[in-house]
Amino acid sequence: MTGQEQLTDNLMERVEARNAGQTEFLQAVRDVARDVMAVEKNNARWSHAKVLERLTEPDRVIGFRVAWMDDHGDVQINRGWRVQTSNAIGPYKGGLRFHPSVNPSVLKFLGFEQVFKNALTGLPLGGAKGGSDFDPNGRSDAEIMRFCQAFMLELARYIGPDVDVPAGDINVGTREIGWLFGTYKKVSGASHGALTGKGHSFGGSAMRVEATGYGLIYFVQAMLAQSGSALDGKRVVISGKGNVATHAAEKATCEGAKVVCLSDTSGVLHAPDGMSHDAITWVRDRKAQGADISDPPKALDLSFDAGSTPWSVAEHDIALPCATQNEVDAKAAKDICAAGATLLAEGANMPLQSKALEHIRTEGLMYAPGKASNAGGVAISGLEMSQNAHRRFNSAEEIDAELKSLMGDIHARLLEEAGVGKTIDYARSANIAAYRRVADAVTALGTAA
Ligand code: GLU
Repeated sequence: MTGQEQLTDNLMERVEARNAGQTEFLQAVRDVARDVMAVEKNNARWSHAKVLERLTEPDRVIGFRVAWMDDHGDVQINRGWRVQTSNAIGPYKGGLRFHPSVNPSVLKFLGFEQVFKNALTGLPLGGAKGGSDFDPNGRSDAEIMRFCQAFMLELARYIGPDVDVPAGDINVGTREIGWLFGTYKKVSGASHGALTGKGHSFGGSAMRVEATGYGLIYFVQAMLAQSGSALDGKRVVISGKGNVATHAAEKATCEGAKVVCLSDTSGVLHAPDGMSHDAITWVRDRKAQGADISDPPKALDLSFDAGSTPWSVAEHDIALPCATQNEVDAKAAKDICAAGATLLAEGANMPLQSKALEHIRTEGLMYAPGKASNAGGVAISGLEMSQNAHRRFNSAEEIDAELKSLMGDIHARLLEEAGVGKTIDYARSANIAAYRRVADAVTALGTAA
């Protein structure tokens, strides 16, 4: 066992004792600890301050009841949470997710990842995550609105533009943010940027909806350029049908790549010669309607396979998991390598199971962790906060140019961390570069931080 492994095991023993059974959270912490424990040990101030161990204990986990009335007049009860992980480098910042899989372990892992991701953007943003086990699938618009209002009645007391600034995540888009923000304004009496991902008509930024997916492709382009390659003509497989997946598909297609599939829980849509813009828009509309993708119109020239996964597509160059955590298992990772892929970049947060990650890294694929490659969304949220504070709007062109440059800066930061002439381990560089920034702040602020 190496010294680094020993340090990681020692830390994990203590973290596991405090978080028994929280598998997603423990997986995320171990992944970071493996890369940063030796860095921490070699810095007396950081190790004395126990920076990483402190970050594994969120500042607070707020839990509340959300009672709301369904269309039949029956009261439904869900659970809501906000995990405020760290505000060492700026106000708590991170999305809200409405999904039956949401629980404290999932939110703690997402909040922990968010601290590192937000640090990588170079903007003054701390990390948080929140949401509910509410399932909007099959619910009417009126029910979803009432749920959002009930959820915000509780959450409002814990957020504010300098305190905690939530945004969207799975099943929380511009529409839901509108309902949440409407309630926040009523409750707080204030009209300011306590949420991001707002609609353009009430203070949102241009390009916020596109930002995560487009940013992912900008990051992939930077990785390819670094290895002397480009996106043009590459075959790309993408999982998911949501905001990140469809905007990544759209941007990749504009840049000359062939997006050969998108997916949802019902199965995979194939387009062997690459999806058209109309096909991608159709998928996005299905998501908006709460419908699956199993029945594409003939004119779109798509085939649907209920039994496969995007990863089993025979030949592809680039894999972009954009659905959810742990969606790629060891078998899928083998399929990706067998298909000849040379690059995998994460649009979702922690989409690779531990064994899959191990396989991808052993096979030497270029691999971008979500905390770097999907940071475009929260980065543009940061720009939304500054636009709100300055009472101004920037144009879509300006924001797109900023997004491109922010993603390029993150890529450059990781190259710098890897060192000149070394093979780039993007995951390791991302963990260490982010850790250094947070550790400096945590240490400088004393034990109160
Ligand atoms: N939910 C997004 C993420 O995972 C965006 C968070 C935000 O904009 O605050 O990074």
